[in-house]
Amino acid sequence: MASDMETEVQAIDRSLLDCSAEEVAVKWLQATDLPKEVYLHLAYYIPKIYSRGPNPAPQREDMLAQHILLGPMEWYLCGEDPAFGFPKLEQANKPSHLCGRVFKVGEPTYSCRDCAVDPTCVLCMECFLGSIHREHRYRMTTSGGGGFCDCGDTEAWKEGPYCQKHELSSAETAEEEDPLMHLSEDMIARAYNIFAIMFQYAVDILTWEKENELPPGLETLEKSDTYYCMLFNDEVHTYEQVIYTLQKAVNCTQKEAIGFATTVDRDGRRSVRYGDFQYCDQAKSVIVRNTSRQTKPLKVQVMHSSIVAHQSFGLKLLTWLGNIIGYSDGLRRILCQVGLQEGPDGENSSLVDKLMLSDSKLWKGARSVYHQLFMSSLLMDLKYKKLFAIRFARNYERLQSDYVKDDHDREFSIADLSVQIFTVPSLARMLITEENLMTTIIKTFMDHLRHRDIQGRFQFERYTALQAFKFRRVQSLILDLKYVLITKPTDWSNDLRQKFLEGFDAFLELLKCMQGMDPITRQVGQHIEMEPEWEAAFTLQMKLTHVISMMQDWCALDEKVLIEAYKKCLTVLMQCHSGFTDGEQPIVLSICGHSVETIRYCVSQEKVSIHLPVSRLLAGLHVLLSKSEVAYKFPELLPLSELSPPLLIEHPLRCLVLCAQVHAGMWRRNGFSLVNQIYYYHNVKCRREMFDKDIIMLQTGLSMMDPNHFLMIMLSRFDLYQIFSTPDYGKRFNTENTNKVLLYLVIIFNGEKNRFSPGMGQVNATDEIKREIIHQLSIRPMAHSELVKALPENENKETGMESVIEAVACFKKPGLTGRGLYELKPECTKDFNLYFYHFSRAEQSKAEEAQRKLKRQNREDTALPPPVLPPLSPLFASLINILQSDVMLCIMGTILQWAVEHNGYAWSESMLQRVLHLIGMALQEEKQHLENLNEENVVTFTFTQKISKPGEAPSNSPSILAMLETLQNAPHLEVHKDMIRWILKTFNAIKKLRENSSTSPVPETEGNIIEEGSRDKDKAERKRKAEIARLRREKIMAQMSEMQRHFIDENKELFQQTLEELATSTSRALDNSPTVSDTKLTALGPKQTRVTEQRQVVTCILCQEEQEVKVDSRAMVLAAFVQRSTVLSKNRNKVIQDPEKYDPLFMHPELSCGTHTGSCGHIMHAHCWQRYFDAVQAKEQRRQQRLRVHTSYDVENGEFLCPLCECLSNTVIPLLPPPRGLFNRLDFSDQPNLAQWMRTISQQIKALYILREEESANNSCGSNSEKMDELQLPKGFRPDFQPKNLYSESIKEMLTTFGTAIYKVGLKVHPNEEDLRVPIMCWGSCAYTIQTIEQILTDENKPLFGNLPCRQDDCLTSLTRFAAAHWTVSSLSAVQGHFCRLLASLVPNEKNENLPCILDIDMFHLLVSLVLSFPAIYCQDFSGVSLGTGDLHIFHLVTMAHIVQILLTSSTGNAGPGLESIAILLFHTSKVLLVWIALKEMSSGWHLWRSIKAGIMPFLRCSALFFHYLNGVPVPSEIQVTGASQFEHLCSYLSLPNNLICLFQENSKIMNTLVESWCSNNEVNRYLEGKRQAISYARESNKLIDLPDDYSCLINQASNFLCPKSGGDKSRAPTLCLVCGTMLCSQSYCCQTELEGEDVGACTAHTYACGSGVGIFLRVRECQVLFLAGKTKGCFYAPPYLDDYGETDQGLRRGNPLHLCKERFKKIQKLWQQHSITEEIGHAQEANQTLVGIDWQHL
Ligand SMILES: [Zn+2]
Ligand SMILES: [Zn+2]
Ligand SMILES: [Zn+2]
Ligand SMILES: [Zn+2]
Ligand SMILES: [Zn+2]
Ligand SMILES: [Zn+2]
Ligand SMILES: [Zn+2]
Repeated sequence: MASDMETEVQAIDRSLLDCSAEEVAVKWLQATDLPKEVYLHLAYYIPKIYSRGPNPAPQREDMLAQHILLGPMEWYLCGEDPAFGFPKLEQANKPSHLCGRVFKVGEPTYSCRDCAVDPTCVLCMECFLGSIHREHRYRMTTSGGGGFCDCGDTEAWKEGPYCQKHELSSAETAEEEDPLMHLSEDMIARAYNIFAIMFQYAVDILTWEKENELPPGLETLEKSDTYYCMLFNDEVHTYEQVIYTLQKAVNCTQKEAIGFATTVDRDGRRSVRYGDFQYCDQAKSVIVRNTSRQTKPLKVQVMHSSIVAHQSFGLKLLTWLGNIIGYSDGLRRILCQVGLQEGPDGENSSLVDKLMLSDSKLWKGARSVYHQLFMSSLLMDLKYKKLFAIRFARNYERLQSDYVKDDHDREFSIADLSVQIFTVPSLARMLITEENLMTTIIKTFMDHLRHRDIQGRFQFERYTALQAFKFRRVQSLILDLKYVLITKPTDWSNDLRQKFLEGFDAFLELLKCMQGMDPITRQVGQHIEMEPEWEAAFTLQMKLTHVISMMQDWCALDEKVLIEAYKKCLTVLMQCHSGFTDGEQPIVLSICGHSVETIRYCVSQEKVSIHLPVSRLLAGLHVLLSKSEVAYKFPELLPLSELSPPLLIEHPLRCLVLCAQVHAGMWRRNGFSLVNQIYYYHNVKCRREMFDKDIIMLQTGLSMMDPNHFLMIMLSRFDLYQIFSTPDYGKRFNTENTNKVLLYLVIIFNGEKNRFSPGMGQVNATDEIKREIIHQLSIRPMAHSELVKALPENENKETGMESVIEAVACFKKPGLTGRGLYELKPECTKDFNLYFYHFSRAEQSKAEEAQRKLKRQNREDTALPPPVLPPLSPLFASLINILQSDVMLCIMGTILQWAVEHNGYAWSESMLQRVLHLIGMALQEEKQHLENLNEENVVTFTFTQKISKPGEAPSNSPSILAMLETLQNAPHLEVHKDMIRWILKTFNAIKKLRENSSTSPVPETEGNIIEEGSRDKDKAERKRKAEIARLRREKIMAQMSEMQRHFIDENKELFQQTLEELATSTSRALDNSPTVSDTKLTALGPKQTRVTEQRQVVTCILCQEEQEVKVDSRAMVLAAFVQRSTVLSKNRNKVIQDPEKYDPLFMHPELSCGTHTGSCGHIMHAHCWQRYFDAVQAKEQRRQQRLRVHTSYDVENGEFLCPLCECLSNTVIPLLPPPRGLFNRLDFSDQPNLAQWMRTISQQIKALYILREEESANNSCGSNSEKMDELQLPKGFRPDFQPKNLYSESIKEMLTTFGTAIYKVGLKVHPNEEDLRVPIMCWGSCAYTIQTIEQILTDENKPLFGNLPCRQDDCLTSLTRFAAAHWTVSSLSAVQGHFCRLLASLVPNEKNENLPCILDIDMFHLLVSLVLSFPAIYCQDFSGVSLGTGDLHIFHLVTMAHIVQILLTSSTGNAGPGLESIAILLFHTSKVLLVWIALKEMSSGWHLWRSIKAGIMPFLRCSALFFHYLNGVPVPSEIQVTGASQFEHLCSYLSLPNNLICLFQENSKIMNTLVESWCSNNEVNRYLEGKRQAISYARESNKLIDLPDDYSCLINQASNFLCPKSGGDKSRAPTLCLVCGTMLCSQSYCCQTELEGEDVGACTAHTYACGSGVGIFLRVRECQVLFLAGKTKGCFYAPPYLDDYGETDQGLRRGNPLHLCKERFKKIQKLWQQHSITEEIGHAQEANQTLVGIDWQHL
């Protein structure tokens, strides 16, 4: 049956293939009704090609479509074979100067911060690298997909619009040339015909809405009953819901369901069932039923297969059109023409319109195909881009509404093309003037926010979820408005003026709806029940901030516009305020003989709103006016008379009072929503159009008012009027907080905003930004990104910081951690203003502290006087008069009076501080006036005079000056003395200035003289104090050095004693060694240097008790962490397949999986640890049951944190005395040589085997031990002897515990202390750990000894001793068996076959295992051979084997030509050594010798470490430093001849046999014949992969990376393994795999293969390093890429160019080599608990 089907398909294919494209095309060329002919062709063939089964067959479909459908069109178009036609077209075409490359998701894009017209102008990587912007300040981001490269667009770049590739060649500058010129008439006609038909067809079929019927002309005669159940994407249902539903509805597996869901998400739709109508309809109803419960159901359609077929071809066709127009600009133009040609139905009937208007009805895949076509056609043709822009603008409202109703992301909407159109300055301008675009956008926006209150203001608080959703979508319109405004016009036409002002009107309408929205009333008594919604209003404000600023920028460019806008704004403000005074009681305020009428209003009792955009816009425009000359020249043009200053300031003032009261805690019951609003009001994101503008409005009002009136109104609003108007009133109230704020505000008025914002003071924009930076850096040095965050950004995302930073700060580079910092230049501290208006209270106090500290360090007085300020612009010049106004003086006087009286009621120090600051400012102001005096000016600012006058009757208070003098000596004001002194000094300076200029002399007062005198006195006093301090310091220094001398004197005896002790102990050690000279130290063998072991006493970190480490004492243990490791692996593909059966006895030289042991070096009693661990375990179990949270460690796996340093551990190592001494018996001078020893050992082994066999035989027959006697035992060998275990019970227990832990982790099996492989794993871990440490030391070029940190030294000591002692707790016969097999690999015997050949054995592992298992045999040997002799012979044997191994594998390159083959030959005849020695005389022999030396070095170094830790022989000083003769010293320490060849010579007889047996091995032969590979020596050290210097290379690489599982899809989170360089598709369903029964992400799965569960990755999109360990542990780590400011950019948010920091990368590499990744994760998780909650396994 199945085969029948197959043949059928093939049969059809053949008939289809017979269709000739050329013939069809010829038919078409002759046709009279071409559309009909073509449709007939399509109607016949398409259902035969597409949608023939449940699953698409893209390859087959594409092939057939090209052959039968597209082929004829191409023939028709070209009029000849397209294989010739298209190249011709291409040749004739003048290449476009536009790049237009459409970005893929994740592709890097570049924007030049110097030259891009706005931040949306971007270049692709290729263009960027060929452009001048490479050398500019640029920003790099990753594309979200959809945009295209702007290279070649002259409007997008201020400079360098072309890259080298797209550069206009100077000859061809005729831009206006018609591209159709290059095409023949015929070709034009044909193209027109075929494009018109095909484009029409595609549009019709894609927008076709019927499910069961085809468009006219496409119907077929017979209609099959084949349908698809088509599932569409929505953004409402989750992946999980869809997967679950599908499994139910169409009976598929989870995997299939995931596949469906993934495709639906990517393409927007996918058929989930194929069959007859009923079958599909049934699935549909299940899906609908299942997903309609909470939300609207998933969209499903049952579609006839032929419709699906035609739609598939429709999409193919659009792509094809896109490709065809790529051949020729002329064809492109024709297609544009076809697309935009109006159809028979008039307006909106062109194909392009049709597509756009049905955008939201199309599925994702169709949308992106036609968007792409638009981009490559309409947007690439300058003429049609304009026409398209008009169509787009006319449909704008409809498109946006469709988008808002739709639920797909904006990137899948045609509305998203606005960025491509509106950001082109000429188009934007044209659309504003001709299509009134500004008004359209704003009105459309307003239309979508219909929910208003009675006054017509927006009301967000009662938004339903749906409305909130719409609100989020509609915000994108603001972005459009921003695009339109982003380039400012250089010249204004009347049209533009008119249309802009029309737009401005609409904008004011919008702001009017915001003015006063979300009003709040102070909550008294009860706390509010529900936090009111506030975010929506602030979102709106935040999004509009740049638009408001840009509106002002536009107005500033044209006086006429500015004046009109000002008038309009004022009118709207008046409308907002109408009824402002209605029903409010007028009251009269009076202080110091001034009086003013105002209303009674109390912020704390009535409604108040923080949203005042209209007032604020007016404030902004007012400042602009002050810049222009209109205000002076033509005041009649301005409605200045209509302004009522009290009215202007009223609302901004209320807003500031609100802030003050909230800060004072008066609004606590209104909850967090209000606190948040106040926060954002001041925040850098909003303040420019909120707080700042309110201040300006107050200043504006003040400049137009009597300052006394102003102050009284202000006092009244702050509820402070009573205090200052009624004497003694204040004493009864504690009004500190509000008072503080009042003064704070006054300071702001005079100090900052009115001078430093461009337009008000006589400064420019850079001064303002400088000012901000100075004050930020006054708090503390800051990193670049911190500064950027603290500064306001303009619409181009620039802060303007780079242009001024050099002037005010120095840059300090970062170290290995941390980041680069900017520090304030010392000369800039004079500009520091303590009451800088953007400081929060916390910042202010931090800055004050920092600045005072700085002054103290510089030994200056700590006063922080107000800085000298630039002069005010004329419109605001009157502002300063507030400082010398009567009411102000009254306020100052009152507060100083309180300070003098110091009764503690209403007064606070901070009040005084502010008053002093105000006085200081007034003085600075007066001083400046006097200094800049010229002839005709009269100084009207006479602050000094006014403060010298005493108060008038009836109060008769002393003058302010007099009070200051009193305060100067007040004991309770120590902190402020410096400031008071500074004021008095300045006062005198001004007095002198006045005298010199002889204008209105200041009356001489007694106070001045007193002050003068006291000042001098004070100076002298200070000098005296400094002198005393200096003397005291010197004395202390002298005392200290005296004490030091004294200490040594006193303890001389002690010192002497210790030295002597040391001397005796070493000499004793030397005495014991009979033959060794003083200098020669030997680590092993019979000649081993004897050392007396020092008593070792350690302290338990848990109980603090001391204990000596002895054989029979209670066990002491080290916290340790055992992990599997592939750090040294040379073959990452090799994994242990079946751990239960795996035989670890021989380690392969690839070292593909080792077991590493590390320790933090902290010591505990075994029983103390046991108690601690039990407690941790119990606690965790309780906690996990209760809270279901994870910890950073896995208790069930035996993990715990070291109780002292919280280092992750999973077992403990017992501390032991040197184990060798226990079993070594006396030396005899007459020790066997290698050959003799081997003979003995072989006999012993043989005996053991025989015994073993007999035992098993006996066991089966149940017989006796007669045969034992018959066996001729070697002399002194007593195999029945069972050695006594000398260790205490507790030590034995720990030996087993640790051994089992290594076994469990190393093999990943269940713990089983009886398993025969336990001892092997222990030896292996010892060997592997030594190898890793040796490798690190080599890599860092460090000497072998003397450089290890204590913890590693301790760890290696105990690990080696443990491994050497472990055999005592395991089965003796098993260990003997291991030894026999190990030895057999070098000394073959007939019992052990199938052992690995010497190419496949890591010799160091072999050495360690042999040496450590040897005592199991030795303990039964009583022949008098020493243990050391055995060690030495084993060592020599393994060393020789290693040399042979090296020789066999040494590559030709090193050994010189022909040598390899010689070596091989020699080995075969086993005469190698003799000839080889002869070779040594020759030059190539020397090469060989060198390669042996290099190859064997790691082995020798490892052996030295091993024997050092095993036998405890001190290390000769020569190998504690790096030096030339390391090799010789190592040989000597290891009891080897310097010339290693002598080893062979000494034992030539036996060695010849052995070498021959090694080399005649089958595997060796295969290797020599080139049939297999082998590791060569020295093994190269493993490093992390090489990373490129420029981070964008990685981004580019990642953007080209396709998910390996979901057929050519982009990966969302491409992640690079830094160990092996594999790119992975992380954090995504598509690449999840099953591991040990759980679904895990690609990274976790990869760690198991590549790093034994540990992994280091770079998340490329995030620019973040990821550490993973096991399934549950992970953390993020700072990436090794830094920008020029020494900062990382995790998440690539800032987009500064990033470059590799080699040092930081080395640091990561070192963490890896040291096996510290898991530890690092543990620390990170302990420090940051949120990391524990992340599902690391899904990454
Ligand atoms: Zn480009
Ligand atoms: Zn280019
Ligand atoms: Zn540039
Ligand atoms: Zn203890
Ligand atoms: Zn520790
Ligand atoms: Zn890897
Ligand atoms: Zn994937």
